Amino acid sequence: MRGSIQIAKLFNIPVLVHWSFGLLAFFVLWEGFSNDLSWEGTLWLGVFVLALFLCVVMHEFGHALTARRYGVGTRDIILLPIGGVARLDRLPEKPIHEFLVAIAGPAVNIAIVLALSPLFLFSVVSFNVTSNAGGINAQNFIPLLVLLNVMLAIFNLIPAFPMDGGRILRALLSMRLGRVRATKIAAVIGQLFALAFVVSSILWVKSPMLALIGVFVFLNAWGEARSVKMNSLLDDTKLSDIMKTRFTRLHPHDTMHTAIRIMEMGAEQNFIITNEAAQSIGILHNEFIKEAMSQRDGNAPVAVYMSKHYEPLQAQDSVRFAAMRIQTNGYSIVPVEKDGQLVGVLDMKMIQEFLKENK
Ligand SMILES: [Zn+2]
Repeated sequence: MRGSIQIAKLFNIPVLVHWSFGLLAFFVLWEGFSNDLSWEGTLWLGVFVLALFLCVVMHEFGHALTARRYGVGTRDIILLPIGGVARLDRLPEKPIHEFLVAIAGPAVNIAIVLALSPLFLFSVVSFNVTSNAGGINAQNFIPLLVLLNVMLAIFNLIPAFPMDGGRILRALLSMRLGRVRATKIAAVIGQLFALAFVVSSILWVKSPMLALIGVFVFLNAWGEARSVKMNSLLDDTKLSDIMKTRFTRLHPHDTMHTAIRIMEMGAEQNFIITNEAAQSIGILHNEFIKEAMSQRDGNAPVAVYMSKHYEPLQAQDSVRFAAMRIQTNGYSIVPVEKDGQLVGVLDMKMIQEFLKENK
């Protein structure tokens, strides 16, 4: 994410902090001064916020390490003032795995509560809520940390997609309805919760944080619903549905003049070279045609300029698979085969047009 800096790398996953996190540090100091806290009190408050964010980081690693168990990597973990985000490379395939990955975060907070409970019982003896005016101190530090972990677990379990509770809901719905419909339903429920967050933050709770979370949930719910729909479209569409079947087939002995002429007409920029049996044997990239032009080498056969470094795609391959292949190999164009016969061509432009049509 833009404006983030890496502060650590744990379990091979970068932990980033967003610049707006600095606002939180400012908030702590401001809170300290406006409440007439001593330097010691402000320090306790600062340490408390750090401890809280350590809990948030552990929560995110709960998601990330569970995802890793099911073969899903995590690009990074970003800390924002409103919480953390573990950015997984993709969704776990099985809904039950998604369910476990989502629930692992709040489970970490519960585990922290359990781990701190002996200390909590010890410190609660001297903990007096009514004398809390002095801010955070050695007596109420642990009880408050326990309390906030309980709240973190409960808050995250609210079924407001894309929060954890919403992901759990989506996973459960996916088992019966399929992921696209499940996401749509979870996103609508998420947006209703988001509106409720914003309204209640204005009318009752008076918390700008809650309003901020509401806006975050609202914007991300549709974004994720759209990307799930897009991904399933990429998975479910076969190349035979979007490839071009009418295209120029050049032969190895055709001259570069032929390629240049067709290219200058504008419709085709890259070409497939075929043999007598109508099978593809090479690709003529646009840049090599331009090179032939600048070398005034129009009489050379295309065989001289064609590239043999490519692997044909298959008509039944998914668009997602094809997009990955084209991108990683930098193909300008790639032949599509069916039963060993050349049946079409594909390039990135056709995929982009397909996505645009299905927005
Ligand atoms: Zn979480």
